[in-house]
Amino acid sequence: MSLYVASLNSGSNGNCYYLGNETEAILVDAGISCREIEKRMKRLELSMKKIRAVFVSHEHTDHIKGISTLAKKYQLPVYITNPTLRYGGLRIEKNLVNHFLPHQPIAIGELTITAFPKFHDAIDPYSFSISNKDVTVGVFTDIGKACDHLVRHFKQCHAAFLETNYDEEMLENGSYPHHLKKRIKGETGHLSNTEALELFISHRPVHMSHLFLSHLSKNNNSADLVQQLFHQHANGVKIILASRWEETSVYQICGSEMSRQNLVLKGEQLALSF
Ligand SMILES: [Zn+2]
Ligand SMILES: [Zn+2]
Repeated sequence: MSLYVASLNSGSNGNCYYLGNETEAILVDAGISCREIEKRMKRLELSMKKIRAVFVSHEHTDHIKGISTLAKKYQLPVYITNPTLRYGGLRIEKNLVNHFLPHQPIAIGELTITAFPKFHDAIDPYSFSISNKDVTVGVFTDIGKACDHLVRHFKQCHAAFLETNYDEEMLENGSYPHHLKKRIKGETGHLSNTEALELFISHRPVHMSHLFLSHLSKNNNSADLVQQLFHQHANGVKIILASRWEETSVYQICGSEMSRQNLVLKGEQLALSF
């Protein structure tokens, strides 16, 4: 089994993540315009017809901007909690509104989506793990700290979109006012490069094949810096930058069986090269 995943955009200017199998897909958040989502999916040769639902992580504008238009145009079910719907001021047709509960998997065709609460300064924020049979991919951005739920879900993932929001030194020496620096660094703010790295080093499972560095700050981070940092510790995991300017390619994430085969293959190739 496989999951096909892409970031259509990642950052404080908009977030939208595509996850699907051969026949159906979902979006996590739609924080860029509907038109931009269509344009980027077309470039990636992804079909809007496959999208069955959009799951909403929290009400910050960079996660919901395109939702009303997208839902209306494609009559797309929106999975959202009541507080997020209320605080986000979203206008969605009643028949398209669906709810989810923490830790209660929701089936969309063969896909299973599980929401779990996270630390972030929003009214009711969630992260999501998405599975297609034995393949699991996480969407973990806008996180103040790596709580036990996150660690547990991260350990299951074959791939993850993981927030690497800021470099601590750049934030400290940057021009943001004190209260904003405090908010970003705080328990309900964002995950720094080193906090994300610590999670990655301590808890990545052996079957993890891809890590997408996500939701990078424009002012307090550098793509080169964070990529270098993670490459040093990648240990066979493919490190990809989910940009705030453009979509990533579509990546095929394979299940444990396939990962094991790849490992064996890598081992054989290694043996042959000696
Ligand atoms: Zn955000
Ligand atoms: Zn947020």
